[in-house]
Amino acid sequence: MASKNDPIVITGAGGFIGGHLVNAFRARGYTDIRAADIKPLDEWYQVFKDVKNYAGPLQGDCRDFRVCRTICRGAKEVYQLAADMGGMGFIENNKALCMLSVLTNTHMLLAAQEAGVDRFFYASSACVYNADKQKDPRITALKEADAYPALPEDGYGWEKLFSERMCRHFREDFGLKTRVARFHNVYGPHGTWEGGREKAPAAICRKVIAAMVSGKHEIEIWGDGTQTRSFMYVDDCVKGIDRITQSNILEPINLGSSELVSINQLVDIAEEIGGIKLKRHYKLDAPRGVAGRNSDNTKIQGYLRWEPDTRLRDGMEKTFRWIYDEFTAKYDAKTAHLSSISTFTKGSHPIPGDGFNPESRYSDTWKQGIPAGYNLRATASAGNAAKKTASRARKPKAGAKANGTRKKPAGKAKSAGRKAVKARR
Ligand code: NAD
Repeated sequence: MASKNDPIVITGAGGFIGGHLVNAFRARGYTDIRAADIKPLDEWYQVFKDVKNYAGPLQGDCRDFRVCRTICRGAKEVYQLAADMGGMGFIENNKALCMLSVLTNTHMLLAAQEAGVDRFFYASSACVYNADKQKDPRITALKEADAYPALPEDGYGWEKLFSERMCRHFREDFGLKTRVARFHNVYGPHGTWEGGREKAPAAICRKVIAAMVSGKHEIEIWGDGTQTRSFMYVDDCVKGIDRITQSNILEPINLGSSELVSINQLVDIAEEIGGIKLKRHYKLDAPRGVAGRNSDNTKIQGYLRWEPDTRLRDGMEKTFRWIYDEFTAKYDAKTAHLSSISTFTKGSHPIPGDGFNPESRYSDTWKQGIPAGYNLRATASAGNAAKKTASRARKPKAGAKANGTRKKPAGKAKSAGRKAVKARR
């Protein structure tokens, strides 16, 4: 186990789970935390000034082996959470992007191996499970062996399964102590709640809040609402990451809640928290994922005598309150409907974040991901501004609160930024 002064690397640190993990290490007194993410610092959910932040495509793109080497040098433990991902709407429409995370996983494993780290944690997903075992909403929970014979979620799930096996072979062939957890739907505050990458709990909270704010008491539900899932509160996820990393569990293991609910029941919970009842419209052609999925926790119970146990109702309450504050800081009754706009269309975004960001033009790895037809020349005039942005990315911007969470974007400024992004497309 790493001591408090050992260097710890967390990738995807500007994202939802990564941000919570960084904070958990801080709370436990770790003094040398390296947090990396391809997003510019002002797009991170949580930013801490007592942590070494490697932000933006130039310093934090872990598809780039040079970046991986820099952040892993001398490190004791590595937590590899960086991935180009999102909810069903994103992963079903952006399969190539999801699969490109294989570059991140490969280069992080190589750099960690080269640096001689003591532990390497990899965040896999329940999307690795064989789709044939998830056709029934009354599904028996998925146990670890159900990943084979392989028929995972196309794109995202295949990449995760491949990278899981890469972790195994780095352990068997090179002696790198890899640990792999298969997360089942994680939710909580400080995560994506709009824009197209959000997952069901956040999307449903947002839709209920939009109805409260706009007074239009209707909700659109993807699929027929009978599809079932389990949802793990982020604090349980962070606890599980630590326990699994320090354990001798060599096989990929489920890390998820076993409290199964249908999407309709999830809407019931959000409505109850919001104190509202909505007319439900079912969008049957929307991405809905598998019919049923739950986490079989027999193994984790056996190994650790523990499993994620935050009640969904309790976790949803905290999530709802946080999204409510974010939502009302940005939208009012007139603009609430804009919150449902997805900024993602099929294969349209080569990098994560709110859209194109000018500093990326200087990153070769980013250019490789440019979709055909993207008009680079139209962005050339942003040259000088881009250089400035690149230098600013090294220190927290005005929007990033030091030693705490991201400052709420001012409604106007944010929407002006959106317009600019749209205009460039
Ligand atoms: P997230 O999207 O909030 O965070 C992922 C972060 O990775 C983002 O901030 C993104 O900018 C960053 N990233 C993407 N490409 C990168 C690159 N090339 N270099 C550096 N950073 C890069 O997602 P999350 O929910 O926090 O998920 C964290 C991990 O857990 C991911 O690997 C994800 O696949 C896995 N996972 C999450 C869930 C869930 O329900 N949230 C479920 C299963 C697995």
